[in-house]
Amino acid sequence: MNPQSNVFWYGFVIPTLLIITFESNDLVKAQASTNTVIGAGVSGLVTARELQGEGHQVVVYEKSDQIGGIWVYDPKVESDPLGLDPNGDVVHSSLYNSLQTNLTTQLIEFTDYPFIVSKNNGKKVCFPHHEEVLKFLNKFAIDFGLNQLIRLNSEVINVEQKDDHWIVESKTRGELDSEELFEAVVVCNGHYTIPKLIVVVIGYGPSAYDIGIEISKAAKEVHLSSRFPQVKVTKMDNCGNMWLHKEVEYCYENGEIASKKDGAFVDADIILHCTGYKYDFPFLNTKGIITIDDNRVDPLYKHVFPPQFAPTLSFVGIPSRTVNFRMMELQAKWVAQFLSRQVTLPSREKMLADVEEYYRLPDETGIPKHHTHTLPFGVDAVRLM
Ligand SMILES: Cc1cc2nc3c(=O)[nH]c(=O)nc-3n(C[C@H](O)[C@H](O)[C@H](O)COP(=O)(O)OP(=O)(O)OC[C@H]3O[C@@H](n4cnc5c(N)ncnc54)[C@H](O)[C@@H]3O)c2cc1C
Repeated sequence: MNPQSNVFWYGFVIPTLLIITFESNDLVKAQASTNTVIGAGVSGLVTARELQGEGHQVVVYEKSDQIGGIWVYDPKVESDPLGLDPNGDVVHSSLYNSLQTNLTTQLIEFTDYPFIVSKNNGKKVCFPHHEEVLKFLNKFAIDFGLNQLIRLNSEVINVEQKDDHWIVESKTRGELDSEELFEAVVVCNGHYTIPKLIVVVIGYGPSAYDIGIEISKAAKEVHLSSRFPQVKVTKMDNCGNMWLHKEVEYCYENGEIASKKDGAFVDADIILHCTGYKYDFPFLNTKGIITIDDNRVDPLYKHVFPPQFAPTLSFVGIPSRTVNFRMMELQAKWVAQFLSRQVTLPSREKMLADVEEYYRLPDETGIPKHHTHTLPFGVDAVRLM
């Protein structure tokens, strides 16, 4: 092992730059570095574990006062529910109190770390309540010694590349911290907080369906609407008073909602926006190299690496409608291996060409651009066809 002393650069200290050489039977050489992870939700925690496992030094910034990300339930309601006020308060978690997972415990555990199923009057719980997911994540953090890597109440406000390093600016409890330098940055800030504005569509994602079922127990009628072109107007099988419609086209002041494509007019008392969330990296300053347009993060090779900055800048947790925990774990392992130079990425040109081809598919097949990172319904599904 060959630890170098702190390196001074532009007046800042690079927190202990370590070049570690592992000697194994086949004398594989690996390089370890100081990396930062932004966010301590599922993706941040599993990324921190994988990086640490590869011998990297890791600092995790977490803006809230506890780990777990969206699994930290917050009963508060935002003062500006439409999110129009840029200075309005933001509640990170969009969980509702009754939420149980929509995937079984086998799909919300990690490959080598099982979700311990709790008992409910002797019955196994397949779809645990959100509180149990948070307990699972806290235990995961303790068991892998991650808490000591995490800086709670520390919000990253700016990330910029300078020469071979990344400058990270942060605030702890509102006070500016000194800037720090890292060799690599993994963005794990989640994308289930900022609602997409403000189309009057009830939506047909997992939350819309979940909430629809719940409301249908008390409401006379529940109508869901979906933008997917294949949708046919149907009465939902498992619920006598719930209908699925095509896209909402008009919402009149008197509350009437029209979906002309299927000829439906519904006189709604309540309109719920379950229209999904937006990607947002307000702290990331790439001078326009990475853009977000219609919820497409561009360019991202395999949804993880922006070719121009790979492998020192990466994103874990971008795809949606997938087996999130396992996907994030695999992405985290992938990133950790690239940063250890165990595996190498294709050339920048090849990655850019791959992204270009991948992003062209939705345009050619009529899949809305905002589904670029939606795995089962998005571009990947078309590729598999
Ligand atoms: C209502 C709802 C239900 C869901 N149900 C399921 C389910 O049943 N099963 C499933 O697998 N998935 C479910 N998901 C998806 C779920 O979001 C992911 O599984 C996963 O928890 C996302 O983890 P994450 O780490 O990417 O993001 P998050 O959990 O959002 O964590 C991001 C973290 O980054 C921190 N952060 C953000 N910005 C900064 C900054 N600038 N500086 C420092 N820290 C920052 C945040 O405070 C947060 O702690 C659900 C999502 C929602 C919204």
